[in-house]
Amino acid sequence: MATPVVTLVVPCYNEEAVLPYTMEVLEQYLRDLIHEELISDKSKLLFVDDGSKDETWNLIYKASLKKETIRGLKLARNAGHQNALLAGLFAAKSISDCVISLDADLQDDIMVIREFIKKFNEGYEIVYGVRRKRDSDTFFKRKTAEGFYKLMGKMGVNLVYNHADYRLMSRRALEELERFDEVNLFLRGIVPLIGFQSTSVYYDRKERTAGETKYPLKKMLSFAFNGITSFSVTPIRFVLLTGCTFFFVSLLVLSYFLVLKYFGKTEIGWTSLIASIWLIGGLQLMAIGLIGEYIGKVYQESKRRPKYIVDLDLFNLAIPEHMEDR
Ligand code: UDP
Ligand code: MG
Repeated sequence: MATPVVTLVVPCYNEEAVLPYTMEVLEQYLRDLIHEELISDKSKLLFVDDGSKDETWNLIYKASLKKETIRGLKLARNAGHQNALLAGLFAAKSISDCVISLDADLQDDIMVIREFIKKFNEGYEIVYGVRRKRDSDTFFKRKTAEGFYKLMGKMGVNLVYNHADYRLMSRRALEELERFDEVNLFLRGIVPLIGFQSTSVYYDRKERTAGETKYPLKKMLSFAFNGITSFSVTPIRFVLLTGCTFFFVSLLVLSYFLVLKYFGKTEIGWTSLIASIWLIGGLQLMAIGLIGEYIGKVYQESKRRPKYIVDLDLFNLAIPEHMEDR
């Protein structure tokens, strides 16, 4: 079997501190893999500059002049990690048999790329890099990440636990990914939806080599929020359920108050006041939740996700000769 053409896609945002090191390490590693005849000599590194304000693009550009294997893609403005990654994946798709995405800070152990490629050769279309432990994270990041995966699970979104965006995707998987036409594309949620033969490879994550994290708390929260609201209408349903609960509980409480009033145990006007606040409050929440359900439907429709993904099409395959007479 011919060795696969592999492209490593690296999104970079203000990474001048770490990029020279990253480029050197990855370039050497790629050449090793080519030398070992694990991958084709047409394999490349693609660095995507996500609208950086520092020297990132200059570094990429200069390296691409010097090294045959280094290629660059410059986005017009900062589009965010997920979008920069997509831009790189789709740019690399047509020239590669498979594409591997990884971060510029080399926190993800590149040595497992060998295993990624081995799995690809065995026929897997998607290989997830999964972190074995989270030792290199702060206590805070560890706990928030844990909570995030749990919450997503409760909302009905299946994520690969402890998998970030370190993964291999075959060209076929990328072609299917391209059919997910939504604007807020949450890759970690979408990729498992593609299906196909997939597997995980485990590794230890290191600390950032240089530079600072581009995911401060604010961005992390927005990322998590985006992940939830791009996938699930559970929050809307929660509003509806709360409204219903309020309404029915208030009915019960009110009948109790009415009994009290009958025996003259409450102030004048109090019962009707409480009655209107609770009943109307419950009704309003219920109505909002109901409207939300409809908006939720519109929202699901507007994403125009593909309804299915074909793995094997026996209908379109050539019929083997010995079966033609039947
Ligand atoms: N990144 C990007 N655009 C952004 C933010 C980050 O392309 O707007 C890149 C960044 O250069 C890095 C990767 O996304 O290669 C992951 O970011 P980082 O390592 O800072 O995140 P962390 O590992 O701390 O979660
Ligand atoms: Mg990082």
